[in-house]
Amino acid sequence: MAKHQIDYLSSGGLPIALTTVDKLVNWGRSNSLWFLTYGLACCAIEMMASGGGRFDFDRLGTIFRASPRQAEVMCIAGTVSKKHAPFVRRLYDQMAEPKWVISMGSCANTGGLFNTYATVQGVDRIIPVDIYLPGCAPRPDTLIYAAMMLQRKIRSEPMNRKISAKRFV
Ligand code: SF4
Repeated sequence: MAKHQIDYLSSGGLPIALTTVDKLVNWGRSNSLWFLTYGLACCAIEMMASGGGRFDFDRLGTIFRASPRQAEVMCIAGTVSKKHAPFVRRLYDQMAEPKWVISMGSCANTGGLFNTYATVQGVDRIIPVDIYLPGCAPRPDTLIYAAMMLQRKIRSEPMNRKISAKRFV
């Protein structure tokens, strides 16, 4: 039987990959983002389209889930009314840590064209937002780009990321 011997000193060094636990965990997290399905208005149609065959959101490891306990990314797609705001907050609280939020569209970002007494003027008044996605409505490929930006953000965060306590109205 042939005997293979490798001289590590002359052939590029030992086959050891050096990394940190933070990088390893964040790499796993960033490649399996499970989205809470949370469509509120017209932006939700674009969010749904991103999961279809034409855009194929799943290829990033993103899976839409219908339960906050099985999701780690909340994508607020559409107009948030003040009547609905407590439910948004409750669902966010029910998600396990670590969790992230994408605000999709002008309505979710700032209230959009609905500068009225009944509309929340930005979902960041209720929950912390990680990525703001501009547009009315942002196209599915923009949401895919936002997910890729979120992946990059997760990879650069410490593993035991904690959201600082904040008082939201
Ligand atoms: S940003 Fe535009 S498309 Fe999105 S929910 Fe508001 S009005 Fe509809």
